[in-house]
Amino acid sequence: MGAEKEVLLRMRGVKTYFPLRSGVFNRSSGNVKAVDGVDLDVYRGEIIGLVGESGCGKTTLGKSLLQLVKPTAGTMEYTFKEGTQDLMKLSRKELDLARKTLQIVFQDPYSSLNPAFTIFGSLEEPLKRFGVRKRADRERIIGDLLVSVNLQREHMTRYPNEFSGGQRQRIGIARALSVNPELIVCDEAVSALDVSIQAQVLQLLLKLKREMNLTYIFITHNLSVVEYISDRIAVMYLGRIVELTETDRLFAGALHPYTKALLAAIPVADLSRRKKRSPLQGDVPSPVNPPGGCHFHPRCPECQGVCRTEVPKLITRTIDGVEHAVSCHLVE
Ligand code: SF4
Repeated sequence: MGAEKEVLLRMRGVKTYFPLRSGVFNRSSGNVKAVDGVDLDVYRGEIIGLVGESGCGKTTLGKSLLQLVKPTAGTMEYTFKEGTQDLMKLSRKELDLARKTLQIVFQDPYSSLNPAFTIFGSLEEPLKRFGVRKRADRERIIGDLLVSVNLQREHMTRYPNEFSGGQRQRIGIARALSVNPELIVCDEAVSALDVSIQAQVLQLLLKLKREMNLTYIFITHNLSVVEYISDRIAVMYLGRIVELTETDRLFAGALHPYTKALLAAIPVADLSRRKKRSPLQGDVPSPVNPPGGCHFHPRCPECQGVCRTEVPKLITRTIDGVEHAVSCHLVE
């Protein structure tokens, strides 16, 4: 990324808790701490991967960024053309405008495509909302968008059920692009696709990023996908970032025991390249009552006494010119 990195989004102390209620009086009985204190800078023009097992908080963090779920605490400063604003303090009207800049592509494109509408019907709605009044203009823009995602103009008259999964995902991407955004959260955007189709959609995302100078936050549980597409990777565990660095560094020299275990679990076809396995033991604990100290300690093969009582800080070091942040008591 070089020395001229520009911070597009600065998250500090972000928490997203979901209250639990129980009993006949519906009393509060705790919180699901889905995101539990995230500090993260996203640079303009980069692809940052957010990885971790299911339940680690990565999807909630992506939705919190777009205010699709309301964060409980922290700040999310975004550098708009008009100046920097905290996304968490936007009024409803300001948030509607911000959605022109920030978009999301979901794993299931059906969630953003109404099966009763043609593709034109689904894609024209955001254009109308952002002031493209003439139908002929909307048809031209939607036709161009479909061509840009390797579909055909004529496809706008068809319904979602007439397309394959890969084509529907391209339509989901076209819909996100229709308002000319700067940052797109791709939430498991290729996870439901066959491997060969995954590769085509990843290539398409890279092409669009280059052409439109986009920034992606790429959320996935698939480390091979994130290795292919990301400039940097943040590894999350139980609502916190435990390791963050450039992609090549993470794959060549991960430092956190959780990241090492995730990497060791990647299937490798070539037996000579297969690493000694250190499979993760057990499941991710409940985010309602996360373990004290280091959240990872009950599953960590390197756990020490201090790990049970003290929360390790996420400390950034520069190693061989590369910034590498890790939260582990044993990393010097
Ligand atoms: Fe393991 Fe302790 Fe490091 Fe946590 S702080 S990852 S328990 S060694």
